[in-house]
Amino acid sequence: MSARLLLLGGTSEALRLARRLGPETIYSLAGLGRVPDDLACRVRVGGFGGVEGLAAFIDRESIELLLDLTHPYAAQISHNAARAAELAGVPCWALRRPGWQPRADDDWREVDDWDGLTRALAPFQRPLFTSGREPLAHLHQIPAHQHWTVRCLQAEPAPPRAEVIGARGPFSLDEERALFARICCDVLVSKNSGSASTEPKLQVARELGLPVLLLRRPQLPVVAREFAEPDALWAALAVGWR
Ligand code: NAP
Repeated sequence: MSARLLLLGGTSEALRLARRLGPETIYSLAGLGRVPDDLACRVRVGGFGGVEGLAAFIDRESIELLLDLTHPYAAQISHNAARAAELAGVPCWALRRPGWQPRADDDWREVDDWDGLTRALAPFQRPLFTSGREPLAHLHQIPAHQHWTVRCLQAEPAPPRAEVIGARGPFSLDEERALFARICCDVLVSKNSGSASTEPKLQVARELGLPVLLLRRPQLPVVAREFAEPDALWAALAVGWR
């Protein structure tokens, strides 16, 4: 591929695509996770400075196509990408991974925000949070009848009725079973990322008959082309975008 692509990453699909692309592609990461050092494409790390910064980067680097393969809950960068592509006059294509769907016997409850989550959690005692770092800001508000387990990328000291586990997935079904058993989990809190690699925890909740509280997905912008499957995006790239 000879033309310039800007690939916005932060997901396993983005990394898989970056591994297929050469030096004419710039692979961009926010810098929160691991930065690979074995790619043939160029890697850059850190924010662009909002919509204008991203549009200026697209101009400066003569980018012809913007690829948004960021996480479904990373709404800010997806909105910035759509707007910056418009400003810079290049197409934006996005991978919009579908969310998980409950099975007939699943007890999944969607919540809009932290307040909704707090209300939905009230009847439970041993929640497992796998929804990122947000709960860490509320560790001082744990109700007296609850003990929280928060799993996120980096551990940090926790107050007495909490445990913060720093761990990077994916986690196997057996690892998830062992965690649920060890912490006596009675409810799971998760984003609805839709990724197969983070699905085993839902299977364990199902096996144990536990409810799952899912944070509602954010609205994402409509862009020139949207793909539900990485393979469809790869195939379209092979055909071209001009
Ligand atoms: P966000 O709120 O949508 O974006 C915050 C800011 O981070 C953006 O405005 C942008 O800064 C910068 N940014 C985000 N992705 C970037 C990228 N690929 N390249 C360069 N800058 C980027 O994002 P977030 O929810 O904090 O997530 C940050 C990153 O982690 C994303 O790349 C996302 O794909 C990944 N991730 C997120 C989640 C999640 O649950 N949110 C889960 C797994 C992975 P500027 O405005 O300065 O350009």
